Amino acid sequence: MEKDANIAGYWVKALIEKFIATSPLNTMQNEDGEPAWDTALVGFASGADPIWQQYKEYVGAFHWTPWEVFNQHCPEEPAAAAELTVISWVLPQRQAVRKANRLAKKYPSEEWTRIRVYGEAFNVDLRRHVVKSLKDVGHAAVAPMLVPNWTIVKSQRFSYASSWSERHVAHAAGLGTFGLCDGLITARGKAMRVGSVVAKIKIQSTPRPYADHRAYCLYFANGTCGKCIDRCPVRAITTAGHDKEKCRQHLALSRDYVKKTYNFEGYGCGLCQVGVPCESGIPVKAAREALERGELPPPPPPLA
Ligand code: SF4
Ligand code: SF4
Repeated sequence: MEKDANIAGYWVKALIEKFIATSPLNTMQNEDGEPAWDTALVGFASGADPIWQQYKEYVGAFHWTPWEVFNQHCPEEPAAAAELTVISWVLPQRQAVRKANRLAKKYPSEEWTRIRVYGEAFNVDLRRHVVKSLKDVGHAAVAPMLVPNWTIVKSQRFSYASSWSERHVAHAAGLGTFGLCDGLITARGKAMRVGSVVAKIKIQSTPRPYADHRAYCLYFANGTCGKCIDRCPVRAITTAGHDKEKCRQHLALSRDYVKKTYNFEGYGCGLCQVGVPCESGIPVKAAREALERGELPPPPPPLA
């Protein structure tokens, strides 16, 4: 049984990697025809993991567990929570894209914006491809971000919250922890995009190599860094965290800039994801080394 669960995990990883390597949809749509992405990190979490209920209780009743979203959208194949696996992937930004956005001071570079638009369009295709490939071999599946009732709601506690969060799913699937700026710091850094699918399939869960949800951020680990604060052109990040409303307003303003400067419809920012110690790796040495040894990082000290 465990062997089958391992094989299923390898199969899904190979499916994702092959699509990235061979799909003509994987493109920045620039003159050089560069691919949007070159690799992925993939993790798995059980639909019965208690973390889903904890998210729901923390975020609000509108936030779905995998069991809720799967049974809403795959009613022909009802499943218990333990029969479900959440497949999560991280698409790390390529070096050239990160380098270009490091030079940006207010609005995003053209490369970064192309990834926000065309790279994310590929991420949508990847979600569809994973769902279809699983269905083709008899496993019902759904991509929660693509269902028509996925929604963002205004929340007094979080400013905005949604019925499914790809970053929180990636955290549950062992792929990273949160930084001061709200981004997810993964083994390949914070400059990345994420995707997920919930499927009726048994796949061995990826261990979560952290006991604290902020273990990879220098600010929470030892009170240093804060570099993302200075990178934000509108001061949407402070030591108190990320002001989602300020960030949203800046993103909305970037639309005009993108249209006038790059000549296509789009928006973006991501300045806080580059030119910072967590851009392309885990900056907390003890946590990085613990991950390499397959151990838990030491717990962070309490913040002063
Ligand atoms: S830039 Fe520094 S403070 Fe900000 S998220 Fe990264 S590690 Fe944490
Ligand atoms: S995405 Fe841009 S506006 Fe939003 S927090 Fe990061 S740097 Fe600031």
